[in-house]
Amino acid sequence: MTPLEYDRTHIWHPYASLANPPKVRLAERGEGLELVLADGRRLIDGVSSWWCVAHGYNNPAIVEAVRRQSERLCHVMFGGFTHDCAIELAERIASFTPAGLNKVFFADSGSISVEVAVKMAIQYQHAKGRPGRCRMAALKGGYHGDTACAMALSDPDGMHVLFRGMMPRHFFLSKPDRGLDGLAEWTREFERLVDEHDGEIAGVICEPVLQAANAMNFYPAEYLAEMRRICDTHDIVLVFDEIAAGLWRTGPRWAHERAAVSPDVMCIGKALTGGHISLAATVASEKLADVISSGPVSAFMHGPTYMANPLACAAANASLDLFSRYDYGAKAERIERAFKEGLVRAMALPNVKDVRIMGAVGVIEVERLPAREDMDRVIDETGVWLRPFANFIYSMPPLVAGEKAVGRICDALVAMAALPPGPETGGDFHE
Ligand SMILES: *Cc1c(COP(=O)(O)O)cnc(C)c1O
Repeated sequence: MTPLEYDRTHIWHPYASLANPPKVRLAERGEGLELVLADGRRLIDGVSSWWCVAHGYNNPAIVEAVRRQSERLCHVMFGGFTHDCAIELAERIASFTPAGLNKVFFADSGSISVEVAVKMAIQYQHAKGRPGRCRMAALKGGYHGDTACAMALSDPDGMHVLFRGMMPRHFFLSKPDRGLDGLAEWTREFERLVDEHDGEIAGVICEPVLQAANAMNFYPAEYLAEMRRICDTHDIVLVFDEIAAGLWRTGPRWAHERAAVSPDVMCIGKALTGGHISLAATVASEKLADVISSGPVSAFMHGPTYMANPLACAAANASLDLFSRYDYGAKAERIERAFKEGLVRAMALPNVKDVRIMGAVGVIEVERLPAREDMDRVIDETGVWLRPFANFIYSMPPLVAGEKAVGRICDALVAMAALPPGPETGGDFHE
């Protein structure tokens, strides 16, 4: 059995069947924008390994930071101990987040950071003497992760339908997909919901401005300002999940900076370590942390085994150092310009419904995805790695990608969008 045969028959890949496994490629090395495969071929990564490899693969500064830390202390339990990597990272994160958000909980993945945010919202309400407030409101079209609580906050008709039976029932607001025209009606819907269920809603969670993994939907920052206003009126905790959109992916450092508001709790992940080790953080406002701490329980009730792993923190420190040293806003703008230049021609293709671009996010929405084999052929022929889903052919490249690389990515996106539509899959997320 070759290693690839073993993989096919024994290892689950994300959203994949073991009975009919999709093609996987054997990655051997990462170098900057490129993956080098075992057979020597190179692919430019148009999705930066699910949006986390912001500074390119095996960034030397991050690799060196992890190496140095590995010689000192690879891990220590965070109960009863702390370490300088975690302290430095908490300070760096607080200097990156809006004023007042400076209480940090380290989580081992984005999904966990969302679970932590929800627990914070519920403990906040509990401490305020409102134990009945233990449900969340979320937006249709959203995505917050694959663990049970995060799934239950993601689009109820999206990729997690199968698990509906075991999930807690939260409240869902309409998907904000009508731009500013839809704002007044959406706001009324939100107000009605909190009026009717004031005693039940602990918090509201959204992906600010960019609903990524379930919808690739962009919406105006004005929605965020309305959320802030309504949450303030009802003392509801506002959570912004910046795991995908944060750290300059959409242009500014945080997607929510476009609105002059800040959340009570913020989730950060993905590009936090520049795609080197899994790490996320839930950052709470001083006010929220004070209320939780003064409550009858006082302790915040979460504590994973690998909490604040020193190697992951070292990677994140080096990643945030790069983010503060160089102008990533300009980098995202450069990618945006290259997407605008390279993707307009896709509008003329028969299978294309819409082309949208925001910062380092370029999306071609098609009527129906082409056949998997056809898309694989485009990847091999163009040397550009893309991973379309539902009816989106998109790219979120490493933020360090230059015009030439983005031009090549655009050629691959357009070539894929020009393929004939594939078999009907019912908007399948499971490839
Ligand atoms: C990816 C993602 C998550 C989940 O992060 P994991 O590290 O995969 O658990 C949560 N929220 C958003 C917005 C994401 O894009």
